[in-house]
Amino acid sequence: MNFDRSKRLFEEGQKNLVGAVNSPVRAYKSVGGTPLFIKKAKGSKIIDVDNNQYIDLVLSYGPMILGHRPKKIEKSIVKALKNGYTFGATSTGEIELAKIICDAFPNMDKVRFVNSGTEAVLSALRLARAFTNKNKIIKFSGCYHGHTDALLVAAGSGLATLSLPGSSGVPKEAVQNTLIAEYNNIEKVKNHINKHDDIAAVILEPITGNMGVIVPSPEFISELRRITKEKGILIIADEVMTGFRSKFGGAQELIDLEADITCLGKVIGGGFPVGAYGARNEIMEMVAPLGDMYQAGTLSGNPIAMASGIATLKELKKQNPFDTFNKVARKIETILKEAAKVNNVALQVNRFGSMINPFFTKNVVVDFKTAQTSDTEKFKTFFWSMVRNGVFLPPSQFEAWFLSTALSNKDLKIIEKAIYAAMQAINQRHNSK
Ligand SMILES: *Cc1c(COP(=O)(O)O)cnc(C)c1O
Repeated sequence: MNFDRSKRLFEEGQKNLVGAVNSPVRAYKSVGGTPLFIKKAKGSKIIDVDNNQYIDLVLSYGPMILGHRPKKIEKSIVKALKNGYTFGATSTGEIELAKIICDAFPNMDKVRFVNSGTEAVLSALRLARAFTNKNKIIKFSGCYHGHTDALLVAAGSGLATLSLPGSSGVPKEAVQNTLIAEYNNIEKVKNHINKHDDIAAVILEPITGNMGVIVPSPEFISELRRITKEKGILIIADEVMTGFRSKFGGAQELIDLEADITCLGKVIGGGFPVGAYGARNEIMEMVAPLGDMYQAGTLSGNPIAMASGIATLKELKKQNPFDTFNKVARKIETILKEAAKVNNVALQVNRFGSMINPFFTKNVVVDFKTAQTSDTEKFKTFFWSMVRNGVFLPPSQFEAWFLSTALSNKDLKIIEKAIYAAMQAINQRHNSK
């Protein structure tokens, strides 16, 4: 397998793009080597510019839940294209997608479309502050909520793998209202709530994906809801990654979390730039033009993106692949654990619905601290071995792998073979030392 053209493009791209990428994780800093440049994708497969073919478990970090370019979706997008690209006025697709989404979330009467997950989250923060008339936000270390100033502290994969404490360019003032707690640890949250009476909201990933997959304990979730309700603090469920990934609707329902505001992105655009935030009427009526919380967007509710989202969600509902996702994820978990055992590699596997990932550690992973006990050198070896055996993975130990409905039994065989080869490579390179 050669990566010559990727190498050349990586050099060429450096001149006018920052690091030859438009999102830092794509630069492969944490796994080293040359990032793969992609030419095209279809179904479960992705093909790089050197014509190497891979089973795609990145799926653009989640959106392509039906695989790449399913015929029906492509047809809907092309049809929408022929009517125009953007109008600066509401079109019918926005109403249709809003209905599909609100029907799928028990606590959502209205939704506002934006253009990215980041934008959904920053708008949700503003809304929570407007509604409660309070300022502080509690976030959990390791959870990522996009690159908005206030939440760019202790923010998961992208930053964790680069070992940055936060980001330069974020003023102290922007994070002074952000309180950090540990995921799955209610005591820290209680401390904050006892100490501050100015807390507007707690934001969390209901299942984390940005420090690897971590499922919260039922006690943590029920206590979190109880104490926040008692103090008039809102819960913002950031379901940008988990929305429509483990059920048709939110992961919040599966973990019994009654969220006040929900953020969405990724899957709901089916590969086009869409984000959304939604809540019950009482909260959403704060948003302009109904209320005085201002938020706007020239391309928000873009008709092409709406067509893609509608077609994707309709098809997803029809296929209802969520049981199958569980089965496939369980199968991959078994393969990972077997291959690790045979090769004497310490490994934890966490998964939820169509998100799964191995942590190269002997510790049970329940929060950011335990996630960080993972051996990222082993992950590096694992990653490149998987690539060379035809499996495209997120280039970070702290990033979930995603499943799509396009994954076939034949693909699974390739994944199985690659996993055994990768664990063997780890055994050879790391266990002899
Ligand atoms: C991806 C992600 C975001 C940011 O979404 P963008 O579209 O990349 O801005 C926010 N929150 C979570 C949980 C995410 O996974």
